[in-house]
Amino acid sequence: MRSIVWFRGKDLRVADHGPLAEAAACGEVLPIFVLDPYFFEPAAAQRLPHRMQFLLQSLRELEGCLAGLGSRLLVVAGRSVDVVPRLAARWNADRVVAHRWVEPFGRERDRRVVETLSRNGVAFQLFEGETLLPPGSVRNGQGRMFRMFTPFARAAGARLDLGPVRAPLRSLPPPPAALVLDTIPIPTIEDLGLVPNPGLQLGGERAAQARLQAFLGGPISYYAVDRDRMDRPGTSRLSADLKFGTLSVRTVWQAAAGSGSGESRRRYLGELLWREFSHHLLWEWPDLLEHPFRSEFQGFPWRSDELAWRAWTEGRTGYPVVDAAARQLKAEGFVHNRARMVAASFLTKHLLLDYRHGEAHYQQWLTDGDWAQNNMGWQWSAGCGCDAQPWFRIFNPVSQSLKFDPDGNYVKRWLPELECCPTTYIHEPWKAPKALRARLDYPQPIVEHALARERFLATAKGHLRRGSL
Ligand SMILES: Cc1cc2nc3c(=O)[nH]c(=O)nc-3n(C[C@H](O)[C@H](O)[C@H](O)COP(=O)(O)OP(=O)(O)OC[C@H]3O[C@@H](n4cnc5c(N)ncnc54)[C@H](O)[C@@H]3O)c2cc1C
Repeated sequence: MRSIVWFRGKDLRVADHGPLAEAAACGEVLPIFVLDPYFFEPAAAQRLPHRMQFLLQSLRELEGCLAGLGSRLLVVAGRSVDVVPRLAARWNADRVVAHRWVEPFGRERDRRVVETLSRNGVAFQLFEGETLLPPGSVRNGQGRMFRMFTPFARAAGARLDLGPVRAPLRSLPPPPAALVLDTIPIPTIEDLGLVPNPGLQLGGERAAQARLQAFLGGPISYYAVDRDRMDRPGTSRLSADLKFGTLSVRTVWQAAAGSGSGESRRRYLGELLWREFSHHLLWEWPDLLEHPFRSEFQGFPWRSDELAWRAWTEGRTGYPVVDAAARQLKAEGFVHNRARMVAASFLTKHLLLDYRHGEAHYQQWLTDGDWAQNNMGWQWSAGCGCDAQPWFRIFNPVSQSLKFDPDGNYVKRWLPELECCPTTYIHEPWKAPKALRARLDYPQPIVEHALARERFLATAKGHLRRGSL
Protein backbone atom coordinates (compact mmCIF):
# COMPACT_ATOMS: atom_id res chain seq x y z
CA MET A 1 0.00 0.00 0.00
CA ARG A 2 1.39 3.40 -0.98
CA SER A 3 -0.11 6.29 1.03
CA ILE A 4 0.30 10.02 0.68
CA VAL A 5 0.11 11.52 4.18
CA TRP A 6 -1.18 15.03 3.70
CA PHE A 7 -0.13 17.35 6.56
CA ARG A 8 -2.45 20.34 6.51
CA GLY A 9 -1.33 22.87 9.08
CA LYS A 10 -3.41 21.59 11.98
CA ASP A 11 -1.39 18.47 12.69
CA LEU A 12 2.25 19.56 12.50
CA ARG A 13 3.67 16.71 14.56
CA VAL A 14 4.80 13.13 14.32
CA ALA A 15 3.55 12.12 17.80
CA ASP A 16 0.02 10.72 18.09
CA HIS A 17 -0.66 11.32 14.40
CA GLY A 18 -3.31 8.86 13.20
CA PRO A 19 -2.84 9.15 9.43
CA LEU A 20 0.95 8.88 9.66
CA ALA A 21 0.88 5.90 12.02
CA GLU A 22 -1.74 4.12 9.91
CA ALA A 23 0.14 4.75 6.65
CA ALA A 24 3.42 3.53 8.20
CA ALA A 25 1.73 0.35 9.41
CA CYS A 26 0.49 -0.43 5.90
CA GLY A 27 3.49 0.19 3.64
CA GLU A 28 5.06 3.08 1.76
CA VAL A 29 4.66 6.61 3.07
CA LEU A 30 4.85 9.90 1.17
CA PRO A 31 4.45 12.81 3.62
CA ILE A 32 3.48 16.03 1.83
CA PHE A 33 2.76 19.65 2.69
CA VAL A 34 1.15 21.90 0.08
CA LEU A 35 2.01 25.60 -0.01
CA ASP A 36 -1.43 26.66 -1.22
CA PRO A 37 -1.55 30.28 -2.45
CA TYR A 38 -4.77 30.67 -0.41
CA PHE A 39 -2.44 31.00 2.63
CA PHE A 40 1.10 31.22 1.25
CA GLU A 41 0.84 33.80 -1.49
CA PRO A 42 2.83 36.70 0.10
CA ALA A 43 -0.16 39.08 0.27
CA ALA A 44 -2.23 36.37 1.99
CA ALA A 45 0.61 35.40 4.35
CA GLN A 46 1.06 39.03 5.36
CA ARG A 47 -2.53 39.10 6.53
CA LEU A 48 -1.71 36.50 9.20
CA PRO A 49 1.86 37.29 10.22
CA HIS A 50 1.95 35.60 13.62
CA ARG A 51 0.29 32.39 12.58
CA MET A 52 2.60 32.20 9.57
CA GLN A 53 5.70 32.55 11.74
CA PHE A 54 4.54 29.80 14.11
CA LEU A 55 3.51 27.58 11.22
CA LEU A 56 6.81 27.90 9.35
CA GLN A 57 8.79 27.10 12.50
CA SER A 58 6.59 24.09 13.16
CA LEU A 59 6.89 22.95 9.56
CA ARG A 60 10.66 23.14 9.67
CA GLU A 61 10.72 21.07 12.84
CA LEU A 62 8.34 18.54 11.31
CA GLU A 63 10.71 18.25 8.36
CA GLY A 64 13.56 17.49 10.80
CA CYS A 65 11.52 14.95 12.77
CA LEU A 66 10.46 13.08 9.63
CA ALA A 67 14.08 13.05 8.41
CA GLY A 68 15.15 11.72 11.82
CA LEU A 69 12.73 8.81 11.34
CA GLY A 70 14.16 8.03 7.89
CA SER A 71 11.52 9.75 5.77
CA ARG A 72 11.28 13.15 4.11
CA LEU A 73 8.72 15.95 4.07
CA LEU A 74 7.82 16.65 0.45
CA VAL A 75 6.89 20.32 0.09
CA VAL A 76 5.05 21.32 -3.07
CA ALA A 77 3.34 24.52 -4.23
CA GLY A 78 -0.04 25.02 -5.87
CA ARG A 79 -3.75 24.81 -5.19
CA SER A 80 -4.39 21.77 -2.99
CA VAL A 81 -7.42 20.78 -5.04
CA ASP A 82 -5.18 20.43 -8.13
CA VAL A 83 -1.85 19.39 -6.63
CA VAL A 84 -2.95 16.52 -4.41
CA PRO A 85 -4.81 14.53 -7.12
CA ARG A 86 -1.97 15.26 -9.56
CA LEU A 87 0.68 13.91 -7.18
CA ALA A 88 -1.46 10.89 -6.33
CA ALA A 89 -1.65 10.05 -10.05
CA ARG A 90 2.02 10.76 -10.75
CA TRP A 91 3.23 8.75 -7.76
CA ASN A 92 0.75 5.99 -8.33
CA ALA A 93 -0.55 6.26 -4.76
CA ASP A 94 -3.28 3.95 -3.51
CA ARG A 95 -4.72 6.50 -1.14
CA VAL A 96 -4.38 9.91 0.47
CA VAL A 97 -4.78 10.15 4.23
CA ALA A 98 -5.24 13.31 6.32
CA HIS A 99 -6.95 14.76 9.38
CA ARG A 100 -10.47 16.12 9.00
CA TRP A 101 -10.98 19.91 9.13
CA VAL A 102 -14.08 21.39 10.67
CA GLU A 103 -14.16 24.77 8.85
CA PRO A 104 -16.57 25.13 5.92
CA PHE A 105 -13.85 26.06 3.41
CA GLY A 106 -11.80 23.01 4.50
CA ARG A 107 -14.85 20.81 4.00
CA GLU A 108 -15.42 22.27 0.56
CA ARG A 109 -11.76 21.72 -0.35
CA ASP A 110 -12.01 18.08 0.79
CA ARG A 111 -15.22 17.57 -1.16
CA ARG A 112 -13.48 18.71 -4.33
CA VAL A 113 -10.35 16.65 -3.65
CA VAL A 114 -12.34 13.49 -2.99
CA GLU A 115 -14.30 14.01 -6.19
CA THR A 116 -11.15 14.16 -8.33
CA LEU A 117 -9.32 11.42 -6.48
CA SER A 118 -12.22 9.02 -6.71
CA ARG A 119 -12.48 9.62 -10.48
CA ASN A 120 -8.89 8.36 -10.62
CA GLY A 121 -9.57 5.41 -8.35
CA VAL A 122 -7.59 6.79 -5.40
CA ALA A 123 -9.13 6.61 -1.93
CA PHE A 124 -9.21 9.68 0.34
CA GLN A 125 -9.37 8.76 4.00
CA LEU A 126 -10.03 11.39 6.65
CA PHE A 127 -9.04 10.71 10.26
CA GLU A 128 -10.53 12.26 13.38
CA GLY A 129 -8.15 14.06 15.70
CA GLU A 130 -8.76 17.78 15.46
CA THR A 131 -11.34 17.29 18.19
CA LEU A 132 -11.74 14.78 21.02
CA LEU A 133 -14.95 13.38 19.54
CA PRO A 134 -16.01 13.34 15.88
CA PRO A 135 -17.83 16.60 15.06
CA GLY A 136 -21.55 15.98 14.82
CA SER A 137 -21.42 12.98 17.16
CA VAL A 138 -22.62 14.66 20.37
CA ARG A 139 -26.41 14.96 20.22
CA ASN A 140 -29.29 15.59 22.60
CA GLY A 141 -32.28 13.29 23.17
CA GLN A 142 -33.90 14.55 19.95
CA GLY A 143 -30.77 13.83 17.95
CA ARG A 144 -29.88 17.52 17.63
CA MET A 145 -26.71 19.46 18.38
CA PHE A 146 -26.77 21.17 21.78
CA ARG A 147 -27.27 24.93 21.85
CA MET A 148 -25.81 25.36 25.36
CA PHE A 149 -22.39 24.48 26.66
CA THR A 150 -23.27 22.76 29.96
CA PRO A 151 -25.48 19.97 28.55
CA PHE A 152 -23.04 19.58 25.64
CA ALA A 153 -20.11 19.18 28.05
CA ARG A 154 -22.06 16.65 30.11
CA ALA A 155 -22.95 14.58 27.05
CA ALA A 156 -19.45 14.85 25.57
CA GLY A 157 -17.85 13.89 28.90
CA ALA A 158 -20.07 10.80 29.12
CA ARG A 159 -19.06 9.71 25.59
CA LEU A 160 -15.33 10.29 25.96
CA ASP A 161 -13.39 7.09 25.76
CA LEU A 162 -10.14 8.29 24.29
CA GLY A 163 -7.79 5.39 24.63
CA PRO A 164 -4.07 5.88 25.17
CA VAL A 165 -1.96 8.22 23.08
CA ARG A 166 -0.19 6.32 20.25
CA ALA A 167 3.28 4.95 20.93
CA PRO A 168 6.01 7.11 19.32
CA LEU A 169 7.11 6.01 15.84
CA ARG A 170 10.58 4.44 15.71
CA SER A 171 11.17 4.74 12.01
CA LEU A 172 9.48 5.43 8.69
CA PRO A 173 10.21 4.00 5.25
CA PRO A 174 11.98 6.47 2.92
CA PRO A 175 10.03 7.63 -0.15
CA PRO A 176 10.50 5.05 -2.95
CA ALA A 177 13.75 5.85 -4.82
CA ALA A 178 12.18 5.48 -8.27
CA LEU A 179 9.75 8.39 -7.82
CA VAL A 180 10.43 11.87 -9.21
CA LEU A 181 10.06 14.15 -6.22
CA ASP A 182 10.48 17.67 -7.53
CA THR A 183 9.79 19.43 -4.28
CA ILE A 184 10.73 22.88 -3.04
CA PRO A 185 12.23 24.17 0.21
CA ILE A 186 10.06 25.53 3.01
CA PRO A 187 10.01 29.32 2.56
CA THR A 188 11.50 31.53 5.24
CA ILE A 189 9.36 34.14 6.91
CA GLU A 190 11.35 36.79 5.03
CA ASP A 191 10.61 35.03 1.70
CA LEU A 192 6.95 35.83 2.36
CA GLY A 193 7.73 39.47 3.02
CA LEU A 194 7.20 39.26 6.77
CA VAL A 195 9.32 40.64 9.58
CA PRO A 196 9.90 38.03 12.33
CA ASN A 197 8.36 38.92 15.69
CA PRO A 198 10.65 37.83 18.57
CA GLY A 199 7.77 38.22 21.05
CA LEU A 200 5.89 35.15 19.77
CA GLN A 201 5.93 31.66 21.22
CA LEU A 202 8.24 29.25 19.47
CA GLY A 203 6.52 26.81 17.11
CA GLY A 204 7.23 23.09 16.77
CA GLU A 205 6.64 19.91 18.71
CA ARG A 206 9.56 20.26 21.10
CA ALA A 207 8.54 23.69 22.36
CA ALA A 208 4.93 22.47 22.65
CA GLN A 209 5.97 19.49 24.78
CA ALA A 210 8.07 21.79 26.98
CA ARG A 211 5.06 24.10 27.50
CA LEU A 212 2.84 21.14 28.38
CA GLN A 213 5.38 19.78 30.89
CA ALA A 214 5.84 23.24 32.45
CA PHE A 215 2.07 23.54 32.91
CA LEU A 216 1.71 20.06 34.41
CA GLY A 217 4.64 20.74 36.72
CA GLY A 218 2.94 23.66 38.49
CA PRO A 219 0.20 25.95 37.19
CA ILE A 220 -2.33 23.14 36.62
CA SER A 221 -2.61 22.76 40.41
CA TYR A 222 -3.76 26.39 40.85
CA TYR A 223 -5.64 26.68 37.57
CA ALA A 224 -9.09 27.09 39.16
CA VAL A 225 -7.97 30.34 40.82
CA ASP A 226 -5.15 31.64 38.64
CA ARG A 227 -6.73 31.11 35.23
CA ASP A 228 -8.58 34.41 35.53
CA ARG A 229 -5.65 36.42 36.84
CA MET A 230 -4.28 38.46 33.97
CA ASP A 231 -1.16 39.27 35.99
CA ARG A 232 -0.16 35.64 36.59
CA PRO A 233 1.10 32.89 34.29
CA GLY A 234 -1.79 30.72 35.41
CA THR A 235 -2.91 29.12 32.13
CA SER A 236 -1.31 26.52 29.88
CA ARG A 237 -0.53 28.76 26.87
CA LEU A 238 -1.17 25.73 24.64
CA SER A 239 -3.75 27.36 22.37
CA ALA A 240 -1.41 27.76 19.38
CA ASP A 241 -0.19 24.18 19.86
CA LEU A 242 -3.76 22.95 19.75
CA LYS A 243 -4.50 25.17 16.77
CA PHE A 244 -1.51 23.93 14.72
CA GLY A 245 -1.53 20.44 16.17
CA THR A 246 2.02 20.52 17.49
CA LEU A 247 0.27 18.61 20.29
CA SER A 248 -2.77 16.44 19.72
CA VAL A 249 -5.77 17.46 21.80
CA ARG A 250 -5.89 13.88 23.05
CA THR A 251 -2.31 14.19 24.36
CA VAL A 252 -3.24 17.34 26.27
CA TRP A 253 -6.46 15.85 27.62
CA GLN A 254 -4.82 12.63 28.80
CA ALA A 255 -1.87 14.47 30.36
CA ALA A 256 -4.15 16.89 32.23
CA ALA A 257 -6.57 14.16 33.29
CA GLY A 258 -3.66 12.37 34.94
CA SER A 259 -2.30 15.42 36.81
CA GLY A 260 -3.40 18.32 38.99
CA SER A 261 -5.97 18.25 41.72
CA GLY A 262 -9.78 18.07 41.77
CA GLU A 263 -11.29 21.45 40.95
CA SER A 264 -8.32 22.79 38.95
CA ARG A 265 -8.16 19.67 36.80
CA ARG A 266 -11.92 19.75 36.28
CA ARG A 267 -11.79 23.41 35.20
CA TYR A 268 -8.95 22.78 32.79
CA LEU A 269 -10.66 19.83 31.14
CA GLY A 270 -13.76 22.04 30.99
CA GLU A 271 -11.83 24.57 28.88
CA LEU A 272 -10.82 21.82 26.47
CA LEU A 273 -14.52 21.04 26.21
CA TRP A 274 -15.23 24.70 25.36
CA ARG A 275 -12.78 24.23 22.49
CA GLU A 276 -14.63 21.07 21.55
CA PHE A 277 -17.99 22.85 21.72
CA SER A 278 -16.85 25.60 19.34
CA HIS A 279 -15.77 23.06 16.73
CA HIS A 280 -18.96 21.03 17.01
CA LEU A 281 -21.00 24.26 16.69
CA LEU A 282 -19.20 25.27 13.51
CA TRP A 283 -19.57 21.80 12.08
CA GLU A 284 -23.30 21.92 12.70
CA TRP A 285 -23.81 25.54 11.58
CA PRO A 286 -21.09 26.42 9.05
CA ASP A 287 -22.68 29.81 8.36
CA LEU A 288 -21.77 30.96 11.90
CA LEU A 289 -18.69 32.53 10.33
CA GLU A 290 -21.06 34.98 8.59
CA HIS A 291 -24.17 35.17 10.76
CA PRO A 292 -25.01 35.54 14.44
CA PHE A 293 -25.96 32.35 16.28
CA ARG A 294 -29.04 34.14 17.67
CA SER A 295 -30.94 35.08 14.55
CA GLU A 296 -32.69 37.99 16.29
CA PHE A 297 -29.33 39.80 16.18
CA GLN A 298 -29.32 39.67 12.36
CA GLY A 299 -29.21 43.24 10.99
CA PHE A 300 -28.14 44.71 14.35
CA PRO A 301 -27.51 48.47 13.95
CA TRP A 302 -23.78 48.47 14.65
CA ARG A 303 -22.21 51.93 14.39
CA SER A 304 -19.33 52.85 12.18
CA ASP A 305 -16.77 55.07 13.87
CA GLU A 306 -13.27 55.08 12.43
CA LEU A 307 -11.75 57.03 15.34
CA ALA A 308 -13.15 54.66 17.94
CA TRP A 309 -12.00 51.64 15.90
CA ARG A 310 -8.49 53.06 15.65
CA ALA A 311 -8.39 53.81 19.38
CA TRP A 312 -9.44 50.22 20.16
CA THR A 313 -6.97 48.56 17.78
CA GLU A 314 -4.08 50.82 18.80
CA GLY A 315 -4.73 50.58 22.54
CA ARG A 316 -5.69 54.24 23.11
CA THR A 317 -9.26 54.01 24.46
CA GLY A 318 -8.33 55.40 27.86
CA TYR A 319 -9.38 52.16 29.61
CA PRO A 320 -6.10 50.52 30.68
CA VAL A 321 -7.19 46.88 30.57
CA VAL A 322 -8.75 47.28 27.12
CA ASP A 323 -5.62 49.02 25.84
CA ALA A 324 -3.28 46.44 27.41
CA ALA A 325 -5.15 43.71 25.53
CA ALA A 326 -4.71 45.58 22.23
CA ARG A 327 -0.97 46.01 22.81
CA GLN A 328 -0.42 42.41 23.97
CA LEU A 329 -2.14 41.17 20.81
CA LYS A 330 0.31 42.93 18.50
CA ALA A 331 3.38 42.25 20.65
CA GLU A 332 2.82 38.59 21.54
CA GLY A 333 0.12 37.34 19.17
CA PHE A 334 -1.71 36.38 22.34
CA VAL A 335 -4.19 37.95 24.76
CA HIS A 336 -5.17 36.57 28.16
CA ASN A 337 -8.67 35.07 28.04
CA ARG A 338 -10.08 37.51 30.61
CA ALA A 339 -8.61 40.45 28.68
CA ARG A 340 -10.07 39.05 25.43
CA MET A 341 -13.52 38.97 27.02
CA VAL A 342 -13.26 42.51 28.39
CA ALA A 343 -11.79 43.95 25.17
CA ALA A 344 -14.37 42.21 22.98
CA SER A 345 -17.23 43.32 25.20
CA PHE A 346 -15.89 46.88 25.11
CA LEU A 347 -15.72 46.95 21.31
CA THR A 348 -19.19 45.57 20.80
CA LYS A 349 -21.08 47.03 23.73
CA HIS A 350 -19.30 50.22 24.81
CA LEU A 351 -18.38 51.25 21.27
CA LEU A 352 -21.26 49.48 19.50
CA LEU A 353 -18.95 48.31 16.72
CA ASP A 354 -19.63 45.13 14.76
CA TYR A 355 -18.19 42.01 16.41
CA ARG A 356 -17.13 40.74 12.97
CA HIS A 357 -14.54 43.53 12.72
CA GLY A 358 -13.07 42.53 16.06
CA GLU A 359 -13.19 38.88 15.08
CA ALA A 360 -11.28 39.59 11.85
CA HIS A 361 -8.72 41.73 13.70
CA TYR A 362 -8.07 38.95 16.22
CA GLN A 363 -7.94 36.37 13.45
CA GLN A 364 -5.28 38.49 11.77
CA TRP A 365 -3.01 38.94 14.80
CA LEU A 366 -3.55 35.99 17.15
CA THR A 367 -1.08 33.12 16.80
CA ASP A 368 -3.84 30.85 18.08
CA GLY A 369 -6.39 32.51 15.74
CA ASP A 370 -8.85 29.71 15.15
CA TRP A 371 -12.04 30.14 13.12
CA ALA A 372 -14.26 28.11 15.45
CA GLN A 373 -12.95 29.35 18.80
CA ASN A 374 -12.50 32.96 17.73
CA ASN A 375 -15.98 33.14 16.24
CA MET A 376 -17.54 31.59 19.33
CA GLY A 377 -15.56 33.95 21.61
CA TRP A 378 -16.65 37.03 19.68
CA GLN A 379 -20.29 36.04 19.36
CA TRP A 380 -20.38 35.16 23.05
CA SER A 381 -18.87 38.54 23.96
CA ALA A 382 -21.23 40.46 21.67
CA GLY A 383 -24.27 38.76 23.20
CA CYS A 384 -25.41 37.15 19.95
CA GLY A 385 -23.72 33.77 20.45
CA CYS A 386 -24.68 30.73 22.41
CA ASP A 387 -24.44 31.64 26.02
CA ALA A 388 -26.55 30.81 29.03
CA GLN A 389 -26.06 34.43 30.20
CA PRO A 390 -28.44 37.10 28.89
CA TRP A 391 -27.24 39.37 26.06
CA PHE A 392 -27.47 42.44 28.32
CA ARG A 393 -24.54 41.44 30.55
CA ILE A 394 -21.94 44.18 30.06
CA PHE A 395 -18.45 43.92 31.51
CA ASN A 396 -17.30 46.92 33.49
CA PRO A 397 -13.65 47.32 32.42
CA VAL A 398 -12.71 48.99 35.71
CA SER A 399 -14.15 46.39 38.07
CA GLN A 400 -12.83 43.55 35.87
CA SER A 401 -9.38 45.05 36.00
CA LEU A 402 -9.55 45.63 39.76
CA LYS A 403 -10.63 42.05 40.35
CA PHE A 404 -8.32 40.19 37.98
CA ASP A 405 -5.27 42.47 37.94
CA PRO A 406 -5.47 44.01 41.43
CA ASP A 407 -2.02 45.63 41.45
CA GLY A 408 -2.18 46.65 37.81
CA ASN A 409 0.85 44.56 36.84
CA TYR A 410 -0.77 43.28 33.63
CA VAL A 411 -1.71 46.80 32.64
CA LYS A 412 1.73 48.23 33.43
CA ARG A 413 3.46 45.50 31.49
CA TRP A 414 1.73 46.53 28.28
CA LEU A 415 1.28 50.26 28.87
CA PRO A 416 4.71 51.72 29.72
CA GLU A 417 3.16 55.18 29.75
CA LEU A 418 1.40 54.18 32.99
CA GLU A 419 4.60 52.94 34.64
CA CYS A 420 4.70 55.78 37.15
CA CYS A 421 0.95 55.70 37.86
CA PRO A 422 0.26 54.65 41.48
CA THR A 423 -1.87 51.51 42.00
CA THR A 424 -4.71 53.68 43.37
CA TYR A 425 -5.29 55.15 39.92
CA ILE A 426 -3.97 52.42 37.63
CA HIS A 427 -7.43 51.16 36.67
CA GLU A 428 -8.94 54.65 36.32
CA PRO A 429 -6.11 57.06 35.49
CA TRP A 430 -8.61 59.79 34.65
CA LYS A 431 -9.26 60.09 38.39
CA ALA A 432 -5.61 60.91 39.13
CA PRO A 433 -4.76 64.44 40.27
CA LYS A 434 -4.23 66.86 37.41
CA ALA A 435 -0.48 67.18 38.00
CA LEU A 436 -0.02 63.40 37.76
CA ARG A 437 -2.26 63.14 34.71
CA ALA A 438 -0.15 65.73 32.97
CA ARG A 439 2.88 63.43 33.37
CA LEU A 440 1.10 60.40 31.90
CA ASP A 441 0.93 60.35 28.12
CA TYR A 442 -2.38 58.53 28.30
CA PRO A 443 -5.76 59.52 26.78
CA GLN A 444 -9.00 60.31 28.57
CA PRO A 445 -11.65 57.55 28.17
CA ILE A 446 -13.25 57.75 24.72
CA VAL A 447 -16.64 56.83 26.20
CA GLU A 448 -18.06 57.04 29.67
CA HIS A 449 -18.97 53.59 31.05
CA ALA A 450 -22.49 54.38 32.33
CA LEU A 451 -23.49 56.27 29.18
CA ALA A 452 -22.08 53.61 26.86
CA ARG A 453 -23.94 50.96 28.81
CA GLU A 454 -27.23 52.83 28.47
CA ARG A 455 -26.64 53.38 24.76
CA PHE A 456 -26.04 49.69 24.12
CA LEU A 457 -29.08 48.61 26.14
CA ALA A 458 -31.35 51.12 24.39
CA THR A 459 -30.06 50.15 20.93
CA ALA A 460 -30.34 46.43 21.57
CA LYS A 461 -33.81 46.68 23.12
CA GLY A 462 -35.01 48.78 20.18
CA HIS A 463 -33.62 46.28 17.68
CA LEU A 464 -34.98 43.23 19.45
CA ARG A 465 -38.39 44.88 19.93
CA ARG A 466 -38.61 45.69 16.21
CA GLY A 467 -37.76 42.06 15.44
CA SER A 468 -40.54 40.74 17.66
CA LEU A 469 -43.27 43.01 16.19
C1 LIG B 1 -13.11 37.25 21.92
C2 LIG B 1 -12.41 35.92 22.10
C3 LIG B 1 -11.68 35.39 21.04
C4 LIG B 1 -11.02 34.14 21.20
N1 LIG B 1 -10.31 33.63 20.14
C5 LIG B 1 -9.68 32.44 20.26
C6 LIG B 1 -8.93 31.89 19.18
O1 LIG B 1 -8.88 32.44 18.08
N2 LIG B 1 -8.27 30.71 19.39
C7 LIG B 1 -8.29 30.06 20.59
O2 LIG B 1 -7.64 29.02 20.74
N3 LIG B 1 -9.03 30.55 21.61
C8 LIG B 1 -9.70 31.71 21.50
N4 LIG B 1 -10.42 32.22 22.56
C9 LIG B 1 -10.53 31.41 23.80
C10 LIG B 1 -9.45 31.66 24.87
O3 LIG B 1 -9.29 33.03 25.09
C11 LIG B 1 -8.09 31.06 24.50
O4 LIG B 1 -8.24 29.71 24.10
C12 LIG B 1 -7.14 31.07 25.71
O5 LIG B 1 -6.95 32.39 26.16
C13 LIG B 1 -5.81 30.48 25.30
O6 LIG B 1 -4.91 30.51 26.36
P1 LIG B 1 -4.39 29.18 27.05
O7 LIG B 1 -3.94 28.20 26.03
O8 LIG B 1 -3.41 29.57 28.09
O9 LIG B 1 -5.73 28.66 27.70
P2 LIG B 1 -6.01 27.65 28.91
O10 LIG B 1 -6.81 28.41 29.92
O11 LIG B 1 -4.79 26.99 29.36
O12 LIG B 1 -7.02 26.61 28.25
C14 LIG B 1 -6.59 25.39 27.60
C15 LIG B 1 -7.14 25.32 26.21
O13 LIG B 1 -8.56 25.27 26.24
C16 LIG B 1 -9.09 25.99 25.12
N5 LIG B 1 -9.89 27.13 25.63
C17 LIG B 1 -9.66 27.83 26.76
N6 LIG B 1 -10.61 28.77 26.92
C18 LIG B 1 -11.45 28.65 25.87
C19 LIG B 1 -12.63 29.34 25.48
N7 LIG B 1 -13.17 30.32 26.20
N8 LIG B 1 -13.22 28.98 24.32
C20 LIG B 1 -12.72 27.96 23.56
N9 LIG B 1 -11.61 27.27 23.89
C21 LIG B 1 -10.98 27.61 25.04
C22 LIG B 1 -7.92 26.51 24.32
O14 LIG B 1 -7.65 25.59 23.28
C23 LIG B 1 -6.81 26.52 25.36
O15 LIG B 1 -5.51 26.41 24.81
C24 LIG B 1 -11.10 33.45 22.43
C25 LIG B 1 -11.85 33.99 23.48
C26 LIG B 1 -12.50 35.21 23.31
C27 LIG B 1 -13.29 35.78 24.46
